[in-house]
Amino acid sequence: MAAFKTLDDLSDIAGKRVLVRVDLNVPMADGKVSDKTRIERVAPTILELSKKGAKVILLAHFGRPKGEPVADMSLSLIVTAVNEVLGEKILFASDCIGTDAADAVSSMQNGDILLLENTRFHKGEEKNDALFTEELAKNGDIFVNDAFSAAHRAHSSTEGLAHHLPAYAGRTMQAELEALQAGLGNPVRPTVAIVGGAKVSTKIDLLQNLVKKVDCLVIGGGMANTFIAAKGIDVGKSLCEHDLGETAKAIMAEAEAANCAIVLPVDAVIAREFKANAENETVAIDAIPADAMALDVGPKTVEAISEWIGKAKTLVWNGPLGAFEIAPFDTATVAAAKFAAERTRAGALTSVAGGGDTVAALNHAGVADDFTYVSTAGGAFLEWMEGKVLPGVEVLKKG
Ligand code: AMP
Repeated sequence: MAAFKTLDDLSDIAGKRVLVRVDLNVPMADGKVSDKTRIERVAPTILELSKKGAKVILLAHFGRPKGEPVADMSLSLIVTAVNEVLGEKILFASDCIGTDAADAVSSMQNGDILLLENTRFHKGEEKNDALFTEELAKNGDIFVNDAFSAAHRAHSSTEGLAHHLPAYAGRTMQAELEALQAGLGNPVRPTVAIVGGAKVSTKIDLLQNLVKKVDCLVIGGGMANTFIAAKGIDVGKSLCEHDLGETAKAIMAEAEAANCAIVLPVDAVIAREFKANAENETVAIDAIPADAMALDVGPKTVEAISEWIGKAKTLVWNGPLGAFEIAPFDTATVAAAKFAAERTRAGALTSVAGGGDTVAALNHAGVADDFTYVSTAGGAFLEWMEGKVLPGVEVLKKG
């Protein structure tokens, strides 16, 4: 049973006004929604509540209007796309509080879906201002949060409302929390984490948390160079944060103390230019020429990573193993991702991935659908991997 309240804990909601925090922060191109994934993700919760006869009132932010109305950050621009995804015509109110919102809510029929204007058009939203939260709460009987991606922020519509109304996790929030629980909360061991990407500096908290939690930490991508250099190996012109050598050493020491194996590259694919199909070769990690850059981990490293994936029961992944956007430096990321997907399909592995470029890398490898769960939540996913408390999740906990 979930440790937090979900829609399963809600009964008799016909006629109730349910304020649902959703993530509708969709990308736009030429005034149209260019990717409807986020709308698709929240559709199940909206439709379930509507079918049960609730008056579904959607709260969302859109862009960064910094507390005042901005025309091209109006949620009215996405109403058509929401209608298309839901297969229902939704209503729209030009403010999320005040008489516009109250009038729109009072004219709703059971099962209607109403989208309120961008919550960030008011300064109170991001300040989690008590008065603004009270204004929002006036339009609801129940609060459902389905926006995990905004749960790392203590805003009025993500955290504050839960102190005014009975609060529940929506279906997308529930799926995300269950996947994260399986990935790091209470994982089946052995557990492997793969962390790649460009820089150590953005992932120090993440690495420090992981070494305490997993049996093996694989470090790949540009950030591995900082660890290699900290061991006294010359990485040539590779991306490397030399000033973080001591940090890298401390993380390796913490790993040793916690009995967490660290897998670092033993070979690398090097080139002299950062561009697609640049002339390249594979060398041992201690043989990177002074004028070359390591742009991917080599095949021997992939073998070592695969060996760990092969014996792991749980995998958490953030960040590519190389510069995956340019061929052939996507090779290791694609190979490891395909192997993890194969193990997952075989029922041998629970695989959870997310954060930044990870989703793009797994899509590039064509395996995002084969992973147990791929989080599109970005910042919230990373903070969760860092072991931080997410305010929007805390308030949904039972008891
Ligand atoms: P991050 O946002 O920190 O996960 O970093 C992702 C970026 O790291 C991607 O754009 C990759 O191209 C880049 N990256 C991964 N490996 C390397 C590498 N060896 N050298 C330079 N960039 C890399």
